[in-house]
Amino acid sequence: MQLNNQSIDLKNILHSFSYWPRLFCLFWNTHKVYFISITILSFIQGILPVLSLYMTQLLVNTIVTTDTGVFDEILFVFLLFIIFTIFKEVVNLITEYIDGLFQTLLTNKLNFMILDKSNTLGQEDFENSEVQDQLKRAQQETGYRPYQIFQQILSIITSVITVISSIVFLFYWNWWVALILIVLPSFSFLSFIKISNKEFFVFWNRAGRNRQSWYLTHLLTHDKAFKEVKIYNIGRLLLDQYNKIMNGFYSEDKQIATRRLKMSLFFGLINLACVFFAIYLVIRDTYLKQILIGSFISYVQAIILIQTTSERLMHSVINLCQHNLFIEQLFSYLETKSNDPVYRRPDSAIKLEVIESIEFKNVSFSYPGTENYALKNVSLILEKGDKIAIVGKNGSGKSTFIKLLCQLYENYEGEILINGINLKLYDTASVRENIGAVFQDFMQYEMPLRANIGFGNFKHMHEDELIYKAAEKAGIAAFAKALPNKIDTQLGKWFPGGFQLSGGQWQKIAIARAFFRDASLYILDEPSAALDPESEKEVFDKFIQLLDNKIGIFISHRYTTTKFAERIIYMEDGEIKAMGSHQELMEDCPDYYYLYNLQADSYTDNDLLSTKNVVNG
Ligand code: ADP
Repeated sequence: MQLNNQSIDLKNILHSFSYWPRLFCLFWNTHKVYFISITILSFIQGILPVLSLYMTQLLVNTIVTTDTGVFDEILFVFLLFIIFTIFKEVVNLITEYIDGLFQTLLTNKLNFMILDKSNTLGQEDFENSEVQDQLKRAQQETGYRPYQIFQQILSIITSVITVISSIVFLFYWNWWVALILIVLPSFSFLSFIKISNKEFFVFWNRAGRNRQSWYLTHLLTHDKAFKEVKIYNIGRLLLDQYNKIMNGFYSEDKQIATRRLKMSLFFGLINLACVFFAIYLVIRDTYLKQILIGSFISYVQAIILIQTTSERLMHSVINLCQHNLFIEQLFSYLETKSNDPVYRRPDSAIKLEVIESIEFKNVSFSYPGTENYALKNVSLILEKGDKIAIVGKNGSGKSTFIKLLCQLYENYEGEILINGINLKLYDTASVRENIGAVFQDFMQYEMPLRANIGFGNFKHMHEDELIYKAAEKAGIAAFAKALPNKIDTQLGKWFPGGFQLSGGQWQKIAIARAFFRDASLYILDEPSAALDPESEKEVFDKFIQLLDNKIGIFISHRYTTTKFAERIIYMEDGEIKAMGSHQELMEDCPDYYYLYNLQADSYTDNDLLSTKNVVNG
């Protein structure tokens, strides 16, 4: 749906009804028995008010007209009245019971569908703010909109039945009064539709700001940001920003609510005037003895019932139109085409067993929405058993190289070949299964150590021996055994009993996770972020040792660690500037020579300093 102007015309509203078949399928699939039961109960609920009026009328008129001495007749009518009242109560309670259960099931199902959809999205989708807004809208509306539609439909059915039956009831007395009472609310219908459209746009435009407020909440409530929030004392500043967004929402809400109030007052007063006129006519007819007192009571109630129900009916229709527009957003999110190649490959795509070789052939790539090339004409061949290090300044394209290999992006120029075959011809899941990677921004799962390592190959997550083996490879086996509940110890601080770790320990766990997978390509992207030089060298040595017959890519800022790699690739501005052993690069690549010496000198100075401290100490 195109939402670039501030009004929704009838066409849009009608179009939004095209989602109904899918919506009803959703209800049907959520719980068939509940769905049918609620629908039947709604029909019954619709007829109940008029039956109630009829019972009151019958009772009062029987009392008034029955001769003294025939009390049995009154008792019989009273018994009917009691049975009817109990029946009404039971119907209400059962409806409430099924309604609650059905709503929970529907909400759960929709939440699952939305999360399931997010799971199929690709990296590109996640970095697209429009998709993020769509997701936010879908998430926000999930809980209640579809169910509201269902309720509104039921309410419309109930109201229509109530209004029609009340009119039939009143018809015997005065048909034109009945007619006035139902025609009147439709005048206000169009005005309310207009306000509802405005309301829809207000919510529609909130998605971006809602995400901002969510982010501010996240910064204020999560441990990762907490230290900086405290040290820079930005808590109040963030709160003020949050408040500003919330106040903005409030003033928009107030504007709409005020308009609604004014309109409700205006149309409400006109409606009431008609109701009182109709009641006046009933009073007059009773006074003239044209109708009995029981009929007087029930006609007055019927007039009020028609007025309130037809007003409710109008609001239900307006709300339904509005909910429909939101539902359209939900379904359009669920229909978003994923950019993740996993979901785009044909079934006939080649299943990759093992990576024997990787070849980049003149690969260039710029991120979606950007013009600069993050990789430029990169050509490189890696064979089984190769262990290379990629070095270069920040932003030189090292991580991008890895992301393309992991098929997080596909719109690159040139070719990437695996075992001589274009990467795009492979089944993406099978390619990813062959890669064990530790990214710069690796995850710290607030879950037990078993899950933190086992996620590397979740099918074997419950095999303790394999978990310890992976921990051993990452150098944390002793640490794992010393934990209070060994590998079943909860990690992190989010949940009770969590064991907090240092950055370096988390990183080693991420490495264990990568090693838990029986891959043929292992990637470590900048482990230096959380490791001291000694630990990084240790990780690097282990990495080289463990990968005897596999391909290993080690990305680092620390030239002093990577100098031991068989082959070093030096990248700059997205290009491979030089490739070779440390010695070759020192001789042939002045930039590498300069950067290496810069770091080596600083280590030497530090070493000197610490030596001095030891001597002085
Ligand atoms: P390195 O890993 O060497 O530090 P990257 O590969 O992360 O460098 O980045 C290469 C270039 O691509 C940089 O200019 C960076 O700003 C840009 N870049 C990285 N990630 C994204 C992204 N998701 N969207 C847009 N540009 C990006």
